Amino acid sequence: MGKTTRKASSSVVIGAIHNFSDKEVELFREKLLSWYDLNKRKLPWRSIAATEADVNKRAYAVWVSEIMLQQTQVAVVLKYFEKWMSKWPTVWDLATTTLEEVNRVWAGLGYYSRARRLHEAAVKVVKEMDGNFPSSRDSLIKNIPGVGKYTGGAIASIAFGNAVGVVDGNVNRVLARIRVIGSDLSNLTTIDHMWKLADELVDPNRPGDFNQAMMELGATVCTPKSPSCASCPVQDLCIAYRQEGNHKASLIASNFFLKESSESRKEKIVTDIECLPGCDLCLRKEDLDERYGVHNYPSKKLKKEVKEQVLIIILLKQTDGQMLLLKRPKLGLLANLWEFPSISCEESNEILTQHISEFFALSKSVVNSRNFVGDATHVFSHIKQTYRIYKIDLKEDKQLVSWPSTYQSGKWMSKEEFLNSATSNAMKKVLKVVNTWEQKVKKSKRTCSDDHKDNKKQRTISHFFKAATKND
Ligand code: SF4
Ligand SMILES: [Zn+2]
Repeated sequence: MGKTTRKASSSVVIGAIHNFSDKEVELFREKLLSWYDLNKRKLPWRSIAATEADVNKRAYAVWVSEIMLQQTQVAVVLKYFEKWMSKWPTVWDLATTTLEEVNRVWAGLGYYSRARRLHEAAVKVVKEMDGNFPSSRDSLIKNIPGVGKYTGGAIASIAFGNAVGVVDGNVNRVLARIRVIGSDLSNLTTIDHMWKLADELVDPNRPGDFNQAMMELGATVCTPKSPSCASCPVQDLCIAYRQEGNHKASLIASNFFLKESSESRKEKIVTDIECLPGCDLCLRKEDLDERYGVHNYPSKKLKKEVKEQVLIIILLKQTDGQMLLLKRPKLGLLANLWEFPSISCEESNEILTQHISEFFALSKSVVNSRNFVGDATHVFSHIKQTYRIYKIDLKEDKQLVSWPSTYQSGKWMSKEEFLNSATSNAMKKVLKVVNTWEQKVKKSKRTCSDDHKDNKKQRTISHFFKAATKND
């Protein structure tokens, strides 16, 4: 998220158009909940929240599902949630397992720090709270590591029935469109206002259902690219929709009768949504494009720059097929996961060569062949990594090799062990590239030699390996 700014509250200007009247709040609850009752998707965490009598089991299930759903789609989470809950049905079960096991079950879900935080928090809930979750949003935020305002609101409302709202990306979009909020979503005035609206709107009689309905509406009807306004239950209360309708009507009128210029049409639309001068939540006039209708909201954020990184992967393989895997550091990207040894290409060629040599401290006589296999790419949230994969086949098994101290430990694993261990999807892609390459080699019955000879960095690596062979 970008930089946030807050104005002194006395200087914040917010027009009435961005709020709901009491009557509108009432109508909104009624329409949204009726729609939800008929259209809600059946999801396992919803069933637990609706049928489980033990409040701590409800809180635990909501908490796990909400953490999994952060940055991950429902369809992907379903499988993981079922597996997780059958393995650790209560916070007590989770607290007594190992982080290694938690990472193994989480493997493939991405954003791995979430798994570590869930485990740490479970230990805390059991040790310090005797397995009892706090029930209010504020106490959840205060006492459970990794629980912020959104997750705290979800647990408090869905598991404990507290009348507090939730704001996530879906809710932001729905509210922005319904109340034509076009200011930057990372601006603190906007953030505060969204939470105020969510807290005011939530139905005190069915807070959990109401919050899930808001998110469901954003996920299935008021979607980012193709909102289904025609079938939207809160269409009557949506100003962006009304604005779009006004625009279409004015366009028809101007095309057929008035022959208005596009400038005067723009003026007309702007007049339709007139708010207070200097309002902090309005879309800036210059950013409003009437052709985009409801898509004008929420305002478009500048895309986060994706950093590119090239990593050399060295896959060491024994004759029995076992591969060397190293355990990543305890903190940072992909913490505690197993990976094939990797070296960043940002380092100079000399250091790189030295690293490879130091990496394994292998006796050259045990190396059977060294080959460039191919590239694999994987995009994490803000880093695009290209893995340049090299494979070293050893002549003998159970080689003792060394690795940099940044790794926690190393292990020889079979393909099956690797696929069942705590590893990232990126490493699975690497193995897939290696498998494809091996099959091709087998088929053509020819030995591949080091490739990519015109690449300077790779030449350095080839040189290292070739030099090693001469000395054998
Ligand atoms: S009418 Fe359209 S834009 Fe408005 S809330 Fe419904 S789906 Fe979203
Ligand atoms: Zn305004």
